[in-house]
Amino acid sequence: MALHPFPSGQLRTVPHWIDGAVVAPGESAGADALEIINPRTDVVVGHSVSGTAEQVDAAVAAATAAQKSWSRQSALTRSEALTRLARLILDNAEELAAAEAEETGHPAAGALAEVEAAAQYFSYYGGMIPALTGETIDMGGGYHSYTLREAYGVVGVITPWNAPLNQAARAAAPALAVGNAVVIKPSEFTPTTTFQLGVLAQQAGLPDGLINIVSGAGPTVGEAIVTHRKVSKVAFTGSVRTGQAIGALAAQRVLPLSLELGGKSANIVFADADLQKAATVAARGFLGNSGQACSAGTRILVQRTAHDEFVGLLMAAVEKFAADQDMGPLTTRAQYRKVRDILAEAGQQGATAHVAPLAAEGTGGLFVSPTVFTGVDNSMPIARDEVFGPVGVVIPFEEESEAIEIANDSDYGLAGAVWTRDLDRAHRVAREIESGQVYINTYLGPTIELPFGGHKMSGYGREKGFETLMHYTHTKAIAVEFSAGAVSGH
Ligand code: NAD
Repeated sequence: MALHPFPSGQLRTVPHWIDGAVVAPGESAGADALEIINPRTDVVVGHSVSGTAEQVDAAVAAATAAQKSWSRQSALTRSEALTRLARLILDNAEELAAAEAEETGHPAAGALAEVEAAAQYFSYYGGMIPALTGETIDMGGGYHSYTLREAYGVVGVITPWNAPLNQAARAAAPALAVGNAVVIKPSEFTPTTTFQLGVLAQQAGLPDGLINIVSGAGPTVGEAIVTHRKVSKVAFTGSVRTGQAIGALAAQRVLPLSLELGGKSANIVFADADLQKAATVAARGFLGNSGQACSAGTRILVQRTAHDEFVGLLMAAVEKFAADQDMGPLTTRAQYRKVRDILAEAGQQGATAHVAPLAAEGTGGLFVSPTVFTGVDNSMPIARDEVFGPVGVVIPFEEESEAIEIANDSDYGLAGAVWTRDLDRAHRVAREIESGQVYINTYLGPTIELPFGGHKMSGYGREKGFETLMHYTHTKAIAVEFSAGAVSGH
């Protein structure tokens, strides 16, 4: 069992995968093709074909045809197929991780972990789907009433560039488990591993057409998916701006959406916490993957009595992290420019920058040194806007109520953390934080089992965890009235 072979040492053109076949439109792979770079070197390594609305239409037609019979298979049969796909991802993990690392710039170990997580989504949802049941509902002895969980049909999945295969799997695995087919649009900057997911799905015995991958630019391919009348739900992960654009289009069709958008998560450190551990984990919480994580803990709120000590520990932890780890570059040129501009502007907002040197700064690559800003007020743009780079801010607070107020004074609400040895306070504050996940005395990286999603402009809907299976189904209630006289008292 093998991945699609791309010739080594040559620029690759990443095609579409539609109805179980490679679709490589010769013409559009030329002038219109989108550049894929290796961000470690800023050198072009290939091209993503520019998909068209017609290709989206072909993918949706294939998905529609495949979905009916797939949804009629037993849950156990679907489970077995998804489990086989998980196995095949693991069998090809090193090659997939190498492609992912080349396009995203992630360090090799991080890219491998992302690929393994993608496999876990298929084994997790494949494993649990036979346990999903409906309900019977008591309406009195004259009725038999029950619910069915029905697939939507064709689900569109639109993903960003920071964890391509993982994010495609995060939506596709639960969607497929409950009986949907998917049309996935990867980021034009990182399409290879998502394309390979289609190839592996066929080898795992999933019906052709069940997983289709259409690459290309967002406004062309993404909008064609959102506006296609046979697409019944869209799972979008990306920026707020694109989420808003998709939301406006979806409203015209009353199309159900899940929107997983940005974040500016608060990491609250009380003076009674284990400050050394809090500092070490806080550094990891906004530096992992060079800060290109939507749930990164980028606003570090510190009780004033511990502020100076904590900043010292944090900077030592940041310097150690940057020296010990390959943090990787920023993935796209646009993101690199954006982060550099934000760093330049933050200095003019009155904040003080503390910059840590990078261990193995690439030459010509899109690397940015980790930066912590102190002297930050929560009203400054550097405290309000998502950077999506290795940048954190430290904001002092006096007491619990002020910490909660600052944490919630944000347009975002994706994750957050509380550090304290006071158990009551830990849970009290965790309940008050307006976000989809809160960690106590830790800052977790991505997990599969915990439901994940936003409050406010971080989006709506949930991915991960058991509940997500529900989000990819409609509930249908069916009521049977027994014929008169059959039940006494009716
Ligand atoms: P983006 O919004 O620019 O692009 C995301 C995807 O949408 C890409 O595939 C892109 O081609 C497509 N797209 C662009 N314009 C479109 C349009 N008009 N219609 C339909 N599709 C369109 O985001 P990005 O720069 O690729 O990713 C970074 C952002 O993603 C950050 O804001 C980050 O916080 C967010 N993110 C969120 C999560 C989460 O789970 N909440 C996870 C990772 C990244």
